[in-house]
Amino acid sequence: MHIPSQCPMCSGKVEPGTTTFTVDLTSGVVVVRNVPAFVCTQCGEAWIDDPISIKLENIAAQAKKQNTQLEMISMA
Ligand SMILES: [Zn+2]
Repeated sequence: MHIPSQCPMCSGKVEPGTTTFTVDLTSGVVVVRNVPAFVCTQCGEAWIDDPISIKLENIAAQAKKQNTQLEMISMA
């Protein structure tokens, strides 16, 4: 994924930080906190890099397998 150096929405500065990612499964929801991402300092829009996206996909796949209804995970 291409990480912009400037936010395409508000022209704000994009800096490394963390975001909260929510995976909506049909059977439940997984909330992943402290996900490393690039975040716009102005509007809070976040971009997640590919290696992290893959990790999030794995977390989602595992939660689906376990029939998780609600799970909160922290990546930090
Ligand atoms: Zn922005």
